[in-house]
Amino acid sequence: MAKDLNILFYLPKLNPVKYRGIDIAKLRANPIVKSDDWSSNEFSSLKRTFRYLHYKSQNRRCSYCRRHLNPLGINEHIDHIIARSIKSGWMFKPRNLVLTCYQCNTQKSATSAFAPGQTFKRLPKKSNNYVLFNPYVHKWSEHFEVEDNLFLKAISTIGQNTITELKLFDYKYSIKYADEANIFGDTAIKRATKRMAKYGKTSFEFKSAKKLIREIERHI
Ligand SMILES: [Zn+2]
Repeated sequence: MAKDLNILFYLPKLNPVKYRGIDIAKLRANPIVKSDDWSSNEFSSLKRTFRYLHYKSQNRRCSYCRRHLNPLGINEHIDHIIARSIKSGWMFKPRNLVLTCYQCNTQKSATSAFAPGQTFKRLPKKSNNYVLFNPYVHKWSEHFEVEDNLFLKAISTIGQNTITELKLFDYKYSIKYADEANIFGDTAIKRATKRMAKYGKTSFEFKSAKKLIREIERHI
């Protein structure tokens, strides 16, 4: 039975986690001076707890593409909404961190999530301060849809910016969506063919639909 992914992906805005006393004490004892401090062993347990708490609060899904994360968030990536190379002081701010899949986090560059020229002394909380999707201030369902249960589609400028920046049109996302929606073989090929007819041959949409068809055909 096919599922409508848009219903599954309807989630409220995120609330920031509260660190445990032991982690707060470690943060106080180890002042952040450079972006590499993120990898310090001192913070391994903090990151492990963060992964676990967010795995639950994000309903086991990546903040951006909404695909399922590894069980308990093990080995998943913690993304800095505002890159640590831009603002190292916000490196451990709960409101600046989300749990993402490997693909989303590695595609995201250190580009600022703020509009060009905008700088802030404190991490802003208003939705219009950001040009990329931020799950603490935006609702996923107001910026994205999953078209035909296969392709992520933007329904706002923020959504479009995020799809472009994270390359969320990639066919690997579609494979996971197809799996979760129970769409296999011919049905997925038919929908991808329809997408190819809708977009120009040089577009990412066309190319990723073509790759999706190739990948399905290789396996059936
Ligand atoms: Zn993702």
